[in-house]
Amino acid sequence: MKLAERGEFGIIAELKRRCAGSPELLTGIGDDCAVIAPPPGEQLLVTSDLLTEGIHFRRDWSDFRSLGRKCASVNLSDLAAMGATPRFLFLALALPADLDTDRLDEFFAGFLAVASEHGAVLAGGDTCASAGGLTVSVTALGSVPAGKAVLRSGGRAGDDLYVSGTLGDSSLALQQLLAGQRPEPFLLQRHLDPTPRVALGQALCRHQLATAMIDLSDGLLADLGHLLAASEVGARIDADRLPLSTAFKAGSAAKPQLADLALTGGEDYELLFSAPAAAEAALQALSRETGTPLTRIGRLLPAEDGLQLFATDRPRPLPEKPGYKHFADAPESCILGGGC
Ligand code: ADP
Ligand code: MG
Repeated sequence: MKLAERGEFGIIAELKRRCAGSPELLTGIGDDCAVIAPPPGEQLLVTSDLLTEGIHFRRDWSDFRSLGRKCASVNLSDLAAMGATPRFLFLALALPADLDTDRLDEFFAGFLAVASEHGAVLAGGDTCASAGGLTVSVTALGSVPAGKAVLRSGGRAGDDLYVSGTLGDSSLALQQLLAGQRPEPFLLQRHLDPTPRVALGQALCRHQLATAMIDLSDGLLADLGHLLAASEVGARIDADRLPLSTAFKAGSAAKPQLADLALTGGEDYELLFSAPAAAEAALQALSRETGTPLTRIGRLLPAEDGLQLFATDRPRPLPEKPGYKHFADAPESCILGGGC
């Protein structure tokens, strides 16, 4: 069925039928605004991400269920980066008229599945026609106990730097897609359907173990740069400590420049955080508790030391380009693995 047959209000009715409620959502889809009763004693955290066809995704590389999942996940990853518990999602869609309703339903299924996996409820949005490609804007609301949000700015010289999961998988998959190769299933899944580290972020916040945190969307070095600037510190990164998957090691072995994707490639959606050295045992326990691998990859230094990259205990030069920048870089280089 074509979108025109279902129409704007048919699309909204279908979403309303499929989405869950929550005691905190006093009025959801169907009125001019959602009415939300914030959890007592908590602060709301709000974040938006825009994904647009040709810049962030290609319809011929992603199925719609994965695309729906990813649109929810990248927003939940921002909530995770501040330690928030996901609460509500708002979904704004600009839909090309040629989109089949079956594809749209797959998108909704993926989006709503990720929402429910992480306890978030769809509370509203907007739906309109697009004269160009498909554009999806998601706004996510989460909450933390008052005053407990983990900011980028709390890092101190001497803190250790940790990263969750593995690095570079997503951008390696993208490079392979570009080269006309079929990525190995693990790498492809890391690219099309990343897992937001919600449980880890929440636990770090609950135990107040992270001094500063950010999620990795633009590449490790680029996002680390944001954390360092906000915390007014420098850092040393040990490149040989970076956590790499077996699939990444195998896929990047052929070309040395592919190995640098672990430093510069985007869309890892892992958490990078700093923590005092005394937190190490507690972090190991938390890693087991949440089933999230954690690796210490370096430490924070005084600001005047800048960002230093080491390999086998020797300084090595930083890669020329730490990550993707909108407007400065060609649009296709975002899709091409720079991250965005
Ligand atoms: P208005 O014109 O007053 O902005 P709309 O007709 O755009 O209202 O939306 C009607 C209701 O449907 C609102 O509650 C809105 O939040 C919800 N809604 C519209 N599009 C979406 C969407 N894509 N996802 C979730 N809710 C939506
Ligand atoms: Mg509207």
